[in-house]
Amino acid sequence: MARRLSKRGWIVILSGLLVILMGSICAHLIFDRPEITFKEPLEYEYRQKLTVSDLVSEVKKGELINGEEEIDAAVLGAQQVTVKTKNHYGRKYSCDVSITVKDIQAPVITAPDRITLVRGQQVDLLAYASVTDDAGEATLELIEGYDPQKVGMQMIEYRAVDTSGNVSGCRTSVVVKENEDDQRDYFLTYSGHSGYRENGRTFIEGIPIINKTYGLPSGYGARGLTKDTSAAWQKMKEAAAADGITLKVLSAYRNYGHQEEVFNKKVAEEGEQQALLTSEKAGHSEHQAGIALDVNSFKESFAQTREYEWLNKNCYKYGFIIRYPQGKTDYTGYVFEPWHITYVGEQWAKVFYNDGNWICIEEYFMITSEYGD
Ligand SMILES: [Zn+2]
Repeated sequence: MARRLSKRGWIVILSGLLVILMGSICAHLIFDRPEITFKEPLEYEYRQKLTVSDLVSEVKKGELINGEEEIDAAVLGAQQVTVKTKNHYGRKYSCDVSITVKDIQAPVITAPDRITLVRGQQVDLLAYASVTDDAGEATLELIEGYDPQKVGMQMIEYRAVDTSGNVSGCRTSVVVKENEDDQRDYFLTYSGHSGYRENGRTFIEGIPIINKTYGLPSGYGARGLTKDTSAAWQKMKEAAAADGITLKVLSAYRNYGHQEEVFNKKVAEEGEQQALLTSEKAGHSEHQAGIALDVNSFKESFAQTREYEWLNKNCYKYGFIIRYPQGKTDYTGYVFEPWHITYVGEQWAKVFYNDGNWICIEEYFMITSEYGD
């Protein structure tokens, strides 16, 4: 006959089991290792100020002990870092983690904003700049130099490489003045072309720039067409005549006062909004500079004539451009004016002609044509 366990016996067994269970739970808690999540990747810049806590993104079931400890990042390459933690019951742990110290930072080039020289002056541009690197040596070289014969502003470019192959670049401008007395204010357009301002006038690549943004001093007057413009016009007129085309001048040079009358008359006839698209304010007309002519007809229908066809196809050969081409109002600020031609010289006229697909000055040089306040 089986002996039945007494009530007391049961209590002893259950108590024993409870002690074992509690004990193992406690032991589990006491010996529970903190879980460390490290940042990725464990790569650090050479000589970066670094502590153990910088390596760790999170510690679960405990905390860092040596978080404040500094790591020596002045040695390139891999190194072991000991990370010490303790769990909530104060039990301490340590583990090693591998980090890599790299030279990631590019060298720093110091160069002047602008280097001013005179025409023909040859200088060692490398002597104007210096380079520093956080991890030692870096070499400086010149990627793009300057042309000492080209008067105007030019961009030059330095490049530096450090021993780890990190590269940095730096662009700065060189202004080549005509001579020591040259007071022109040189600049570069967004298209990278060289221009200057002098006595209230603006030139880009030698072309006088006159539009809504770039004006002329009120007192400025060519007192007629410029010599080059006049000579080119005569030559073109004769060439046209030889092809059976008659070109005639409607309006050429207009002084400031005359232009003021023209503009005011337009405003009276068409209202200001329209006048701004069809006529230049005084001080903003190429006619005042003696480089523009209005020919044959002030009607847009002129564009349908044989004369315009000839002009459109041939004027660039004589250094003229259709200054306000069709579809370019957003750039020029003016409606299509088939009759208005501007002398810019043969070399540039060919560029703007663009094989019959006119590019306007504003578009090419990336400049604006807008009246200021
Ligand atoms: Zn005109």
